[in-house]
Amino acid sequence: MTDQAIFTPLLIAALIFFAWSCYKRFSLLGLGQAEDRFQRIDLRIWDMLLYAFGQKRVMAKPFGINHCIIFWSFLILLIANGEFILAGVLPGVSLRLLSDGISGPLVLLCDLASLLALIGVIIAVSRRLLFKPDYLDTAYVKGRSFEGFLILGFIALLMLAYFGLHGAEIAMGEEPLAGYMPLSAFTAKLLLASPLASSLAPFASFAWWLHALVLLAFICFLPLSKHMHILTAIPNCFLQSLDKPNTQPREEFKKGEQFGVAEVSQFTWKDLFDGFSCTECGRCQNACPATATGKPLNPRQVIHAIKTNLLANGPYLQRGEKPVIPLIGEESEGSNTEDTIWSCTTCGACIAACPVMIEQMPKIIKMRRHLVEMESKFPEELLNLFENMEQRSNPWGIAPSERTKWSSTMEVKPFEQGKTEYLFYIGCAGAFDSRAKHVTVALATILNAANISWGILGKEEKCCGDSLRRLGNEYVFDKMAKENVQLFKEKGITKVITQCPHCFTTLKNDYKQYGIELQVIHHAELIDQLLKEGKLKLNKQVKELGNIVFHDSCYLGRHNDIYEAPRSVIETATGNAPTELERKKDNSFCCGAGGGRMWMEEFIGERINLNRVTEALTKNPDTICVTCPYCMTMFEDGLKDKQAGQTKVRDIAELVAEGLR
Ligand code: SF4
Ligand code: SF4
Repeated sequence: MTDQAIFTPLLIAALIFFAWSCYKRFSLLGLGQAEDRFQRIDLRIWDMLLYAFGQKRVMAKPFGINHCIIFWSFLILLIANGEFILAGVLPGVSLRLLSDGISGPLVLLCDLASLLALIGVIIAVSRRLLFKPDYLDTAYVKGRSFEGFLILGFIALLMLAYFGLHGAEIAMGEEPLAGYMPLSAFTAKLLLASPLASSLAPFASFAWWLHALVLLAFICFLPLSKHMHILTAIPNCFLQSLDKPNTQPREEFKKGEQFGVAEVSQFTWKDLFDGFSCTECGRCQNACPATATGKPLNPRQVIHAIKTNLLANGPYLQRGEKPVIPLIGEESEGSNTEDTIWSCTTCGACIAACPVMIEQMPKIIKMRRHLVEMESKFPEELLNLFENMEQRSNPWGIAPSERTKWSSTMEVKPFEQGKTEYLFYIGCAGAFDSRAKHVTVALATILNAANISWGILGKEEKCCGDSLRRLGNEYVFDKMAKENVQLFKEKGITKVITQCPHCFTTLKNDYKQYGIELQVIHHAELIDQLLKEGKLKLNKQVKELGNIVFHDSCYLGRHNDIYEAPRSVIETATGNAPTELERKKDNSFCCGAGGGRMWMEEFIGERINLNRVTEALTKNPDTICVTCPYCMTMFEDGLKDKQAGQTKVRDIAELVAEGLR
């Protein structure tokens, strides 16, 4: 029997198995809810080129270049493998049928790519064995490392077989394009100098079959393994969210509706596709403040649990039967515990780290929505918060008449339609928190010094609803957002200044869903602008605050890409750039207060604020500079716990106000 007569049925069987496995998995996506991920095709194609083909995020990490080399070699070798398969079925079909001017460069490219892929695999194996980063050294990863080695082994065998086959053909004088294949030609020389020189034909046959069998095994294994991401990662980059990822979709509150997600089919098809796209690289886990401080939340495992749950429950759900494992339940494969779900600070570090643009955090919020809205199951300390928000529209339940108490030392005007340019939206912390009130006064002083036309809503101001939305209490958030939007519209408010990144992101990004496009500016950007335009002039450089360390707020930085403005303000006010923390900008480490965690106890693991304060103290700061009232509270509490009272915490507005004295 000829090689072709054996290979062809094997190939057909492998392709049928591949197609069947893909169908079994991808048909499960049909269980998910509808979601449009095809608007702005131009932008999506650009993002796909940048993140998938350009490997932007992959390259940002050490060893990322190695993955990039393997990825691109793999793409180039699709040519060689396509040729191999065609020739296996139809002998005589070969690149060599094309003119030398086309086939020569193609085989040269394949020859070089084979060597690069082989080197890439050797480096990847060495890294896994010798220089394993912490996040690859967990029980979870160890349990799955066999699969990683198997795939790397497949790739290495394919490359060795490639060189063996082409080297033998060149040695036998059967390769017309030998001049374009320097590495295969080198292999030929080695073969001719070895004992194999006398049995080149059987060796070529062996290499051919090795290549064929490994390729077929690879085709069969791919859709069943985590390396399915080879098929899904590129489309997932195309399908990424073009909205701000912490801006969750609105809910329709109709009687009898289900709210949030308690069963895997309540996720959207894209949420489910994310599960199939995870490369299990561990970058999200490595960036997550909850994981780092010993909480039962690991964003990688959340995505893995959704995938596992879908694979286990999917066939039952497709037949209209009940799921067999819960999505939210006790700790087990395919389930997320409630502690997992409540541990998230919505800092967005996972989303920012993921090389294939998976959106981990929004899935956690969807599960929170179910717990809060369908089951009234939430940590008991949130009960007060929810009641206070509903009744008094602030987290502490303080009377709205006290919203203007911060202004007892200065004259403040109400916002007047047609007369006032900016609404200074004070925010609940700025109005009620004794420490944050100092920041409010400092910012008001700055606005006056720069002759800005501004006014406040006074006791008419309501909470923006940020914590409610991130905690999954969408029902109350929806009510508050509607009330705020109506008030803004009635008063003709279009420009808003905020001192809190949470108010900033909610008014700017979330309220768009309610039909209002406000020009919202956080004070970091406004002050920077005023200083640069010369509209705000400082009377002195602030030197007395010593070594200033700057902490990026997640909701200003990662969620809104504002990194340079606060740094520039500090530099202008003090004459020196701030000292940077190791974890900064889009890799900044959360203070622990986002996602409504500000209002919750932190019983499990190390406190997140202590982790961050410990990091900051390694820089010997005299002052830690922040841009958020939550960060202020978390740092001040952490410094007290660390008995580092000599280190002060200042908002950048206080720094600048000091320079105005
Ligand atoms: S948003 Fe932050 S806390 Fe939540 S899972 Fe992602 S990295 Fe962890
Ligand atoms: S979700 Fe993204 S970052 Fe996390 S392990 Fe998967 S691919 Fe890596």
